[in-house]
Amino acid sequence: MDTVRAAAPQLAGLVPYDPKYLPAEALLSANESPTDIPPAVREQVRAALAQLELNRYPDPLANGLRDAIAAANGLRREQVLVGNGGDELLFDLALAWGGPGRAFLNLPPTFSVYAANARLTGTRVVDVARTAGYAIDEEAVLARVARGDIDFVVVTSPNNPTGSCAPLGFIERLLQATDALVVVDEAYCEFAGATALPLLEAHENLALLRTFSKAYALAGVRLGYILAHEGVVSELAKVRQPYSVDAVSQAIGRVVFENRAAFQPAIDAIVAERGRVTAALAAMDGVGPYPSDANWVLFRLEGAGGATAAATAAAAWEYLYDQGVLVRDFSSAFMLEGCLRATIGTSEQNDALLAALERFLESA
Ligand code: PMP
Repeated sequence: MDTVRAAAPQLAGLVPYDPKYLPAEALLSANESPTDIPPAVREQVRAALAQLELNRYPDPLANGLRDAIAAANGLRREQVLVGNGGDELLFDLALAWGGPGRAFLNLPPTFSVYAANARLTGTRVVDVARTAGYAIDEEAVLARVARGDIDFVVVTSPNNPTGSCAPLGFIERLLQATDALVVVDEAYCEFAGATALPLLEAHENLALLRTFSKAYALAGVRLGYILAHEGVVSELAKVRQPYSVDAVSQAIGRVVFENRAAFQPAIDAIVAERGRVTAALAAMDGVGPYPSDANWVLFRLEGAGGATAAATAAAAWEYLYDQGVLVRDFSSAFMLEGCLRATIGTSEQNDALLAALERFLESA
């Protein structure tokens, strides 16, 4: 044979996830921490890694890390599942709660990986779009789940890329209204100081997703976790790859989790800079920032010089990139026309973003 038969039909039309990561002086496109883990923590990481027997398989379920996470959240080991980044756990959720004949409720605009995972697993995607200001259309969501055919829903809080948290009162009403699995994606919750964890005890249909990639500065390591009832965790354990969390990641995760208090100053600095950047953007003519509870600010550019908002934002993205500042381009994305998303960086990086945007607006 000199040809190969077609891949699975659900892959037709899909494109691989592309973070559009380009080299730049100020990397403000991927919502990473602008600073690496503190030096004293890195020293402990080095010591922990020196102890590892790399010829042995890792603990398949990362029980040492599970126990630490469980204890910190007032839970038992069986209520925690660790994965190779939040992304892997999102895929496991789609495998376990989706599939042919099943339905996923999506609240766009939101993190694109959810809908991609649904398509890969043959799950029907039902969209209930957000309102013009990106709030969840609460009554529409409650009415949609009342039809009884939704198997799982993801509520992203804070929502990527729009920035604000879902109201806790809404999450509670949703949990009461449906037996669908309600996944609250809290990848950025440390910047919001808010969590749906208090709802877990009373609601078997709640799963919280967290990550080490953002507030804990470990995007390069790939560690995320789910907090849920034991029955949910045991279903997810059936679909997960046995050794997806390697020994190196487990060891680093344990050290970082034990030292999580050492990350609070960097989190506080991001929150303070977020306020400063939002205010500076709001003061610029033709720029509208959206309020953010996360480590980025989404902002919309008005069309300038006769160009559309989408074309102006695309031109601003190019200009910023030429000036060494990489932000995320949503300029022609669904419901986000004219928008760019800037991760909060160091104060120098944020200054570079603001100065370059001012120059763009003067020239536009
Ligand atoms: N959820 C949301 C909303 C995200 O933005 C991300 C990271 N882009 C993730 C989950 C997954 O993060 P990770 O795989 O790095 O843990």
